[in-house]
Amino acid sequence: MAGPVARQFGGARRRLIEELQAKGVHDVAVIRAFDLTPRHLFVPTGVQHRAYEDASLPIGNGQTISQPSVHATYLATLALAGTERVLEIGTGSGYQTVLLAHLAAQVFSVERIAPLLERSRAVIAQCGVTNVSLLLGDGTHGWKAYAPYDAILVSAASPDVPKPLLEQLADGGKLLVPVGGRDEQRLVLVTRHGDRYDRQDLNAVRFVPLVGDHGWTDDAR
Ligand code: SAH
Repeated sequence: MAGPVARQFGGARRRLIEELQAKGVHDVAVIRAFDLTPRHLFVPTGVQHRAYEDASLPIGNGQTISQPSVHATYLATLALAGTERVLEIGTGSGYQTVLLAHLAAQVFSVERIAPLLERSRAVIAQCGVTNVSLLLGDGTHGWKAYAPYDAILVSAASPDVPKPLLEQLADGGKLLVPVGGRDEQRLVLVTRHGDRYDRQDLNAVRFVPLVGDHGWTDDAR
């Protein structure tokens, strides 16, 4: 991205990147994506002064934008080469969607809350990325029309790995999903090898619930 929007908060964005590097994020492509993505556009104006803290922040409708270091973990784990077709479940603010747009060939993202999706659509356009497609709906069903995906990232927590997402994973593809209770989960990495799915449990995480047919069936806290 170029122009005045990119230059705004440039110093704060630099400091966030240094903080991420100090926390062990060294992947050059991932760092570049953070550098190209103006996080202050993805948060409500009331918390814009905190946009470049390594913290999750409220984005309205009871949802949050994730902590940048959590996005960095996801992105470093996937090690995208730039050629992939990626599916994201839980567009939220659209921030990670734009990070992905800088790291993959095509990004498909599904969000269930209409006002969030519309706001993220506007900000994504403002960022000038054109390789993103958005869908309003229950992402626990995936997005069949464009499957299979080389990578699937779920940004909300599920009691179990949603089955349709396994089916929409390409051979050799990777799926990242937080699995566990409503309040604490473990990040799970599933890698598909033909009909075999290798599951690896990674670090402890905290995400808002994945609400849908193959997730939590109600959003009561
Ligand atoms: N990566 C986003 C995370 C937003 S929070 C960001 O950093 O902004 C998780 C999002 O998942 C919320 O916006 C929530 O509405 C959405 N979500 C929850 N269940 C969903 C489902 N079944 N399908 C699509 N989106 C869902």
